[in-house]
Amino acid sequence: MAAIEPKKHEMPVQKPEVRAHNFDEVALGYSAEIAAAEAQRCLNCKNKPCTQGCPVNIDIPEFIAHIKQNDIEGAYDVITKSSSLSAVCGRVCPQENQCEKECTLRVKLGIDPVGIGRLERFVADTHRMNKTIKPSKPEPNGHKVAVIGSGPSGLTCAGDLAKKGYSVTIFEALHTAGGVLVYGIPEFRLPKIIVADEVNTLKDLGVEIMTDVIIGRTLTVDELFAQGYEAVFIGSGAGLPMFMNIPGESLCGVYSANEFLTRSNLMKAYLDDSRTPIMKGGNVAVVGGGNVAMDAARTALRLGGEKVYIIYRRSMLEMPARNEEVEHAKEEGIDFRVLCNPVEILGYKNENDPRDPKNGKVRAIKCIRTELGEPDERGRRSPRDIPGSEFELDVDTVIMAIGTSPNPLIKSTTDGLEVNKRGGITVNECGLTSRENVYAGGDAVTGAATVISAMGAGKTAAKAIHEALSGK
Ligand code: FAD
Ligand code: SF4
Repeated sequence: MAAIEPKKHEMPVQKPEVRAHNFDEVALGYSAEIAAAEAQRCLNCKNKPCTQGCPVNIDIPEFIAHIKQNDIEGAYDVITKSSSLSAVCGRVCPQENQCEKECTLRVKLGIDPVGIGRLERFVADTHRMNKTIKPSKPEPNGHKVAVIGSGPSGLTCAGDLAKKGYSVTIFEALHTAGGVLVYGIPEFRLPKIIVADEVNTLKDLGVEIMTDVIIGRTLTVDELFAQGYEAVFIGSGAGLPMFMNIPGESLCGVYSANEFLTRSNLMKAYLDDSRTPIMKGGNVAVVGGGNVAMDAARTALRLGGEKVYIIYRRSMLEMPARNEEVEHAKEEGIDFRVLCNPVEILGYKNENDPRDPKNGKVRAIKCIRTELGEPDERGRRSPRDIPGSEFELDVDTVIMAIGTSPNPLIKSTTDGLEVNKRGGITVNECGLTSRENVYAGGDAVTGAATVISAMGAGKTAAKAIHEALSGK
């Protein structure tokens, strides 16, 4: 056997100096030749540690074996047995903490793991390009199910049920389906055409999508049952932004990351002729160290931000964002200020002219330096303020990306629906809530998590709904 190349094949990308000024996809995808060469690095391990590291247990050695034989449709069929959003997951899953973390090449040989995510994306994109046949609608089984929310959990639950002949309606609060995949994750990381394709596949299967319907306002869960739906899946996500509760957060120029990204992605504020207001230019501070913070910072840069800072209270080591996003952000020129935490946002106040248009707008952010203390209950070292170490950064915009929680609307309008102390809907291992025939999954249950875990929860609930309604 030839020696295994120690490095993963590089992903072709747009040059940092070019991509920092456009919204086109950064990573361009493997060519067939690169994918074939990367597949050759896989050892086809019998015990499949990578599959065990995948939250939906894709048979990874099996799909890579098909790539080795240049059977890309065969590879696609293997992936879709476990995952219905492979073009999405190949792009945004944190593989370094999941399948690739368990790869034998990394664990036993100490070299780069197989580029599993990159190969998954290659297979999904090749399939999309070749796809000519629409899926046929399955024979209806006479049962009706309502799905609340069209993010990865709702789309997956709806798709799995539709394939079994259920009449499924998705109720979505926004005017476009896709959840965070369309309103949160920017075009330069996940082109919207890919999400639209996945949504269209569901429509071809017969799933009805009702947009601009807020469950808890337009209709309640109880009214859905009165309309003849026999089960309801709640996949309403965790879209309620958190703030720091520091002075100055209500100044003009402070955004939650969700609002900022929604304005840019969903309301197309980045287009030159868009009428959606958003910051353009000036200095920007993004507070947080997760994927959301990276997306907000890189979006602000592309919108013309002159100096864009990431302010994070721990060190680079603890940063929860995907490695690739952090690397890409650094290459594009984002200025990482770690081990510091905002204590106040400072505004303009022209004492001489109360009508100065700058009054009430952000002028700077005051931060305090931090050091790391003992690990918390999740094993992450807790930051401690260093007294007297305050400093200011001149900025015009502050974007808070410090987390989100589930919106309480559905809980407050659905009698008997229990939630935990963080607002997550309480479910059993099948996704069943405290209400009969009401299931839930994804961020609405766990709080902000990942696309693949939301998909997994949608799958689990679809299975349980099928068993309950078919009497199995
Ligand atoms: P969501 O995707 O949030 O979808 C919920 C849907 O329900 C929304 O469309 C919402 O409008 C709708 N809804 C809410 N309330 C109602 C209601 N009352 N009635 C009707 N509809 C309602 N994860 C990764 O794995 N990798 C990443 O790189 C990554 N990057 C991210 C970047 C950003 C900016 C954000 C915000 C998240 C990111 N995540 C990432 C997390 C991931 O996107 C989420 O964990 C995932 O989308 C959760 O899926 P979901 O189906 O539970 O909810
Ligand atoms: Fe291939 Fe790595 Fe999985 Fe082994 S663990 S089968 S080398 S991807």
